[in-house]
Amino acid sequence: MKKSYHIINYGCQMNESDAEHFAGQLEDMGYAYNPDFHQADVILINTCCVRESAEKKILGKIGEMKAVKAAHPQKVICVTGCMAQKSGKKLLTTYPQVDLLIGTAHVNNFRGILESYLAGRKHAQHIFTDLEQIPEEFEGNFVRKSSFSAWVPIMYGCNNFCTYCIVPYVRGRERSRSKENIIAEITKAVGLGYKEFTLLGQNVNSYGKDSGAQDAFSDLLTAVDAIPGVERVRYMTSHPRDMDEEVVKAVAESKHICHHFHIPVQSGSNKIIKAMNRGYTREKYLGLVKLIRSYVPDAVITTDLIVGFPGETQEDFEDTLKLLEEVSYDVAYTFIYSKRSGTPAAKMANQVPQEIKQERLEQLMAVQNKHSLKHNEKLVGRTLEVLVEGPSHNNPLVWSGRTDGNKLVLWPKGQDNFVIGSKLNIKIEAAQTWLLKGRPSYE
Ligand code: SF4
Repeated sequence: MKKSYHIINYGCQMNESDAEHFAGQLEDMGYAYNPDFHQADVILINTCCVRESAEKKILGKIGEMKAVKAAHPQKVICVTGCMAQKSGKKLLTTYPQVDLLIGTAHVNNFRGILESYLAGRKHAQHIFTDLEQIPEEFEGNFVRKSSFSAWVPIMYGCNNFCTYCIVPYVRGRERSRSKENIIAEITKAVGLGYKEFTLLGQNVNSYGKDSGAQDAFSDLLTAVDAIPGVERVRYMTSHPRDMDEEVVKAVAESKHICHHFHIPVQSGSNKIIKAMNRGYTREKYLGLVKLIRSYVPDAVITTDLIVGFPGETQEDFEDTLKLLEEVSYDVAYTFIYSKRSGTPAAKMANQVPQEIKQERLEQLMAVQNKHSLKHNEKLVGRTLEVLVEGPSHNNPLVWSGRTDGNKLVLWPKGQDNFVIGSKLNIKIEAAQTWLLKGRPSYE
């Protein structure tokens, strides 16, 4: 019987992309995917440590592997990703059922690590968490979850050290891939039927700066836009400090780069933005919003916000509320600040009590929901081009897709003459805070 693998993935899009790389290498080695982890020969837990609550859940899953390993000692249990990087040996001591602990810099040489483990170093734990001398390029095949939309990492790591964030400690300094390799990867994926590409990095606007290049990200966007067969280009995540006019211009002048700008502001108070070490001011941020709207009038602008960062007073919070009114975002992803051990903010003295954080979050969401609904209502009656993603996760009787601005659109199943991954015109008939509803315009 064919050997099999199972991957349990947690966390962000970068982890999803890493999981596709791991799966590709396992399949290149002759393993087949097994939907039941109890049956798999290799079990890989790809971890995330961005929030303490997520960490607890993942530790529970690693704990479950104790019984699995005890019953079948020949199974290989791998723990990869940010928690593996952060916890190192400590995790191996607490969880002896883990065979391989593989940090964030060893995704692309996973196959070599597993092969040498299987070749004779069994029954000992092995750890690969150095962040230096790592292969930036991937030689194997991908097993992508989607048949039409592909994640494409363009850089690894982050240099920013925002005071609440663990990423620079677990993913190392910025390292950009070469433009040639990125273009080659996308061109190959187009040949396999992929249409939508999301360029990934912790701070994509810094792309190329590690080798001293200027305007490398806008050049890359323009080059990807020109690849025949590419129908949609997205990128994440942008940093407001590094996003410049060249990038906005590249989007405005492109044919396929989505008019969606996700620019995480995190707070509307200059004092808090500074304490977060974000490197911009409220005024500079508002200037960027103005610039985007002057080049791309139909831009969909979204953001991330943290409430209850240490030292946030009522006045600081009100600055954030005012910013929401001033910008009028399409969507704001709101989070309560939670301590990440190992970050400077976790040691700050003036932590905000939980009940105040909760109250502020609710207020923030109420203001934002009003704006989200207002933006969506403006789209009622219009016909929008939607990329068909498949049946809705919540209702299999309904199709779902996304607009260029990344808005979720639902429409009823019927006599459908389209395929998943194709573009379809949908006439919008109703708007809700988080989604739009409509019908294909051929009906
Ligand atoms: S830019 Fe800041 S928040 Fe984003 S990954 Fe880097 S340190 Fe973390």
